[in-house]
Amino acid sequence: MPLFKNYSNNLTFNDFNFDPQLLEGLQSMGYVKPTPIQAQAIPLILQHKDLIACAQTGTGKTASYLLPVLQHISISDKKHTKALILAPTRELAQQIDQQVEGLAYFAGISSIAVYGGGDGMIYEQQRRAMMEGVDIVIATPGRLIAHLASGVIKLDHLQYLVLDEADRMLDMGFYEDILRIISNLPKERQTLLFSATMPPKIRTLANTILKDPQQINIALSQPAAGISQQVYMVYDNQKVELISTLLKGGDYKSVLIFCSRKETVKDLNRTLRREGIKSEAFHSDLEQEQRETVLRAFKSRVLPVIIGTDVLSRGIDVEGISLVINFDVPPDPEDYIHRIGRTARAETTGTAITFVNEKDQRRFSFIENLIGKEIPRMTLPTELGEGPVYSPTTRRPSTGGNNRNGKKKVWVKRKA
Ligand code: AMP
Repeated sequence: MPLFKNYSNNLTFNDFNFDPQLLEGLQSMGYVKPTPIQAQAIPLILQHKDLIACAQTGTGKTASYLLPVLQHISISDKKHTKALILAPTRELAQQIDQQVEGLAYFAGISSIAVYGGGDGMIYEQQRRAMMEGVDIVIATPGRLIAHLASGVIKLDHLQYLVLDEADRMLDMGFYEDILRIISNLPKERQTLLFSATMPPKIRTLANTILKDPQQINIALSQPAAGISQQVYMVYDNQKVELISTLLKGGDYKSVLIFCSRKETVKDLNRTLRREGIKSEAFHSDLEQEQRETVLRAFKSRVLPVIIGTDVLSRGIDVEGISLVINFDVPPDPEDYIHRIGRTARAETTGTAITFVNEKDQRRFSFIENLIGKEIPRMTLPTELGEGPVYSPTTRRPSTGGNNRNGKKKVWVKRKA
């Protein structure tokens, strides 16, 4: 696990007095030792404290809230839904649900992932499962509101509310939906908020919905040591040729290519497929089933290349990715760490290559600031000609300092 591989604490899972069936679940999942976030969060949650935790995917954050919640449910009556976990995307909701299934397998605790998309049948399945009663609901906000409006889900006995990847939910415009959902919950409850970053809007939300919260901050990790990071200075019209040269020349079995915009994802996918490269696009326009098919093919190594937006960069847990290519520089320096963190997982090695055009040079310099080192510059293959000279202090051709939404963009270097 790249984000928590070097840590020392003397705790074991036996120190938390968990139910034996939960310990069995932990054993079957192969978790031997609590990660730092687990060591800090589990005792606080067991003491019924509200919590605000700054931790990203890869730290073991999911189990840090699931374990104490499962412990509580395992020793209480199972007549009502006791915990609601809100997550920004269906992929994350499904992933959390899988962890519940694994950890709670021997404890007989039920859960359901509730998310949008799919056909009427999925909605109906979700509806029926909730009517029959379920201990834990893991939901994306929009779909949960639809079920709340239909009256099928009863949350009057809820004891835990978890917001996972809260910053992402706010980025996706779920602020009002979250408040609406909370207005349906009992006031007496324990609320746990997890977020990779802590922008002011998260603080405001926390002040509104948490009671006297404890705080935990697991600092953003540096990229795993096993990742060989490289950068090419390129003009836009050299990018496609460079990518196909790299893919055809290297022995890469599983490759993720990130683009910041879904239009670029679609274009690049079409172009690479024309070049004979087996790739698929992954973005928010795909139906749920299509996304799942793509991920399944990728995980089973049938599909070697996925091209995706940042939807892919967080929360998706796929082992054995050998190469990550940033077709453009991610909008936020921290997204760089999330993107390249998809490779070199579980103590393996991997390569992360970033393409930087003239316009992205300044943005790229913020990434090097964040990780505190210079990423090796690679020379373009001779047939591609010369790339642009690296000169990040030169002002960009001018977007007027605005981002693509037309809002003023302020780069703030966050603490590493
Ligand atoms: P998360 O940060 O919750 O997305 O977890 C990242 C990965 O770490 C997931 O694949 C988990 O199954 C795994 N994981 C979580 N806790 C532990 C642990 N204590 N020991 C080993 N693996 C863990």
